[in-house]
Amino acid sequence: MTKDLLSLALLRAERQDYDGIASHTPDPSQVSDAAQATTLTIDDLTPPKNRKATQPSARRENLARSRRVGRFLLRALRPLALPFLHRFQARIHMAVSQTGMVDSVMRLEASLAHLQESIYSRLSDQASSHVKSASNIADIRKTLESDAKVTRDAIARVALLEERQRLLRDVVVRGFWQTLDRLDDLTLAERSLTCPVCDRSEPHDTLQTRTDHCAFGGGRLERYLCPRCGCVFGPAKYLELDQDLIDADYALLYSEYSEGDSTAEEIRAFHSLNPRPGGLYLNWGCGRWTRTIPILRAQGYDVWGYDPSAPPVGSGFIATRRDAISAQFDGIFSNNVVEHMVRPVDEFRYFHSILAPGGRMAHASPCYHYRYSSTRFHVVFLTGNSPNVLAERTGFRVMAREEEGEFANVVYERE
Ligand SMILES: [Zn+2]
Repeated sequence: MTKDLLSLALLRAERQDYDGIASHTPDPSQVSDAAQATTLTIDDLTPPKNRKATQPSARRENLARSRRVGRFLLRALRPLALPFLHRFQARIHMAVSQTGMVDSVMRLEASLAHLQESIYSRLSDQASSHVKSASNIADIRKTLESDAKVTRDAIARVALLEERQRLLRDVVVRGFWQTLDRLDDLTLAERSLTCPVCDRSEPHDTLQTRTDHCAFGGGRLERYLCPRCGCVFGPAKYLELDQDLIDADYALLYSEYSEGDSTAEEIRAFHSLNPRPGGLYLNWGCGRWTRTIPILRAQGYDVWGYDPSAPPVGSGFIATRRDAISAQFDGIFSNNVVEHMVRPVDEFRYFHSILAPGGRMAHASPCYHYRYSSTRFHVVFLTGNSPNVLAERTGFRVMAREEEGEFANVVYERE
């Protein structure tokens, strides 16, 4: 088809050239290199036999003619070639563009692959971390279960030991006091017994006795009414114990027994002293559970305490040893203490030593009567005239007494 178009173009060029159109001089700017190249190939269109036959003048004419044909051909072919060129150029551009897109897509795919690999790597790390955590949790659970078993075993062991300790304590305590009771059966009838308040000694058979049984395993509690001072004292087996054994017996008692709250009675005894602001006061035998001291201190009273069974640490106002007490007090008060005094004369003389002249003390106790007798720890009941006798022997005088129900209180003044 190209050859047909070329033939047609040559025929039209020859015709138009004869018509004078060929005299038109083409614009040099419109002559492209491609057109020049095309012009050079025009000679090839002339049959070789004509090229040999031509003379120099004819050759120039042929050459001019060929150039005209060439220029015409260029002008003729140009409108036809341009669309092809434009289309070809567009395809090239499209190809280039597509190539760029492909590159972009490849780069994008590479980035996605890298991102995917990174995500997989992170997920793998997290999964590994979770597996480790799960492993740790499992280990911790095993440890806790093991600890729980150890704790359960320990609790069971402690319960077993407590039960054995209770059985052993019963055997030892009951056996100890039963042994003393057997000895008393053999010896008491032959003995004289001495009142701890007035020191009066009387043969056993002449004394009026009261017998109870200890609720804490202490066996028979035989007590005696003093014919001189009127107190009730005993049992002799407890009064005659060494002090360290008495202390051990109290320690055993308080290891498993707590006395009731007697704060109200203690405060009542304190106020029976007619305390004055600025005075120094001592709560004797305040106990480890006392609320009296903080209450009275909050009210502005300078109150301290003493109790050998109090915790060694805790309130800074409680002494646990007598050698820690060096002050002179304006008043001493107690509740449920005097009936525990194995040597009440010695105790009152000690109180005398730590009280300022004119100082007072109030000892409240239901045991100014013969009450709460079923315990070996109550060894003296200050019944009868015994409070006065005790006071006279130790440098005091009884200045007041009060009773209301089970609350009984005696106020003593230091002479
Ligand atoms: Zn007596």
